[in-house]
Amino acid sequence: MQVDPLHHRCFYVYGLGLSGMAVVGYLEDQMARIIVGDDKINDDVAGHAPQHVDDIDWGVVDVFVPAPGLPETHPAYVRARQEKCEILGELEIYAWKMMLADEAPRIIAVTGTNGKSTTTALIAHLMDSVTEGSIVAGGNLGLPLLKMPMDANWHVVELSSYQLDLQTSFASDVAVLTNLGVDHLDRHGSVEAYHGAKKKLFDQTCDHGGRLVLGVVDAVGLAWYQEFSGRTPRAKSVGLGEDAQIHVADGQLHVDGVTYPLDIPKSLQGRHNGENIASAIGACLAAGNELDELLSALASFPGLPHRLEHVLRKGELEFVNDSKATNASSTCHALRAWPGSYWLVGGLSKPEDLSILAKTAKETSAKAFAFGKDAGVFVDALSDFVPVTQCPDLEKAFHAAVAQAQKGDGGTILLSPASASFDAYPNFMARGEHFRGLVEAWGA
Ligand code: ADP
Repeated sequence: MQVDPLHHRCFYVYGLGLSGMAVVGYLEDQMARIIVGDDKINDDVAGHAPQHVDDIDWGVVDVFVPAPGLPETHPAYVRARQEKCEILGELEIYAWKMMLADEAPRIIAVTGTNGKSTTTALIAHLMDSVTEGSIVAGGNLGLPLLKMPMDANWHVVELSSYQLDLQTSFASDVAVLTNLGVDHLDRHGSVEAYHGAKKKLFDQTCDHGGRLVLGVVDAVGLAWYQEFSGRTPRAKSVGLGEDAQIHVADGQLHVDGVTYPLDIPKSLQGRHNGENIASAIGACLAAGNELDELLSALASFPGLPHRLEHVLRKGELEFVNDSKATNASSTCHALRAWPGSYWLVGGLSKPEDLSILAKTAKETSAKAFAFGKDAGVFVDALSDFVPVTQCPDLEKAFHAAVAQAQKGDGGTILLSPASASFDAYPNFMARGEHFRGLVEAWGA
């Protein structure tokens, strides 16, 4: 056993969410000295009293650990830079933990703009179905990285851009890029810096002899595949078109020119999920599994809550919870997956162009029920394209949609809000649970 480089150093861990607390727990095990801080928490957490950035003795702090997503302009971050502290993220500490372990699980890492959680959960489901070893999903999805059990055979980890930005040593056995949307890139100061941070995962995995599964559904993914396929024979392209070695088209899977029928479960409806299926199968093949076994396991994927989640079918009505769709592009996928739906939209809208949403709603013959703080924004954006009923809240919108569907021939009541939930809920999960509760009460 090597000596852990974290031993006896002093860490200021800022942001005490799930990931921050997992870091604290791990550092305690390493006998590090720990100071904690948080913008909102003032009471003791796990025996540590949160300390304000101006109250600590910076002279003793060796390492600053920001919560994923803590902006670099945050006073604690700025001060840590001024004091020349080493800055380590959770992922870097996880990478060290894995390197130091005598026997570490193998890792499949998933990143990208959209479809990360679905792809991660699907990989974990497929691997769990076809291998005898223990498979644990975590990172951004499920367990924090530093809480994932070390006696598992595989870790399947979802990594956000924030986690990847702060690492220099992490390499996985299989690295998966779902896609890299331009919209997402636009929100970052420098596209090059954003690309560079993500690309390090693939560079490091490539140098480490790992396998790469690259979604070639956009220009960035395609460029990366072209580059990496020149550097390693262990890169595969995945997607929806024939340019990808593994792709899904017309409900079938194509692997290196051979076609296989797919039994696609309800939880993976929609074209975008074809991408996620191709990525997940690509990752599981790269991890050494047999294709025929993976294909049999696909049909039993239960799906993730709040992502095109099928809640109930009763009589002529079907209910789908896509509360996770917090922007217009996600909702466009849902509208295409469930054409003709009675669509519940609204909440706290994003400052984005809603014209594509309106066009997609029209093409898919959706009937909109706008609710929440920004109901008016959606009424304005949609009413020239589709019928829109304005409602004060989700409950009223739900009942109005059900009543209208019952008057017609039935159909799908789809919650896909294209908005954040914070106008009325603590998060998108609470909004989805509310919807599910309304469905269950109606169906009882
Ligand atoms: P992430 O973890 O990257 O946020 P999720 O798997 O949680 O992605 O899916 C969130 C929403 O994003 C889904 O409800 C769906 O509308 C959309 N989505 C999922 N997969 C894709 C994909 N491959 N391409 C584009 N959009 C997707």
